[in-house]
Amino acid sequence: MDLKELIRDIPDFPKPGIVFRDITTLLNDSKGFQYTINLLTDECRKSSLSPDYVIGMESRGFIFGAPLAYQLNSGFIPVRKPGKLPRPVYKVQYDLEYGVDTLEIHQDALQSFHNVVIVDDLLATGGTAEATVELLKKIGCNVLGFAFIIELEALKGREKLPNVPIISLVKY
Ligand code: 5GP
Repeated sequence: MDLKELIRDIPDFPKPGIVFRDITTLLNDSKGFQYTINLLTDECRKSSLSPDYVIGMESRGFIFGAPLAYQLNSGFIPVRKPGKLPRPVYKVQYDLEYGVDTLEIHQDALQSFHNVVIVDDLLATGGTAEATVELLKKIGCNVLGFAFIIELEALKGREKLPNVPIISLVKY
């Protein structure tokens, strides 16, 4: 199955000059979604990634991270935008093209001896994944690897990430 055929290209979104890779058409396709999760699972197994927890970033990281966690017999931990988690959090600020954003995780979600895999739909500049690594450093847990559906290779996001397996199913 060619996943690129299920991903829709939206020119000039969210602003002129950007081609947005829209994964809602992939999610819409039952066989395509199932194939994507199974392939992501196989690739994690091939790279010997058996985490205690899958960490998914709000919000598209939840869509792929939760079923991956289920397949790998792992727990799932959400990394959220500010103000959403009810108990004490660790937070990290990171730079966007214009301005800053914040990510948060529950302080009691996991401990330093745990192994995790970080999941998001797409790796672009790597800023979001790098910020998640910073967040997990506050806990001290071990990042085994990363799994993305899409990688925008020209933006060299993987260069910002630690030297562990970085899986991406579709490259542009
Ligand atoms: P980065 O931080 O690596 O520059 O950007 C990745 C983050 O932005 C991910 O959380 C991803 O969901 C979102 N993102 C950036 N560009 C796109 C895109 O073209 N399509 C989708 N689906 N998400 C994008």
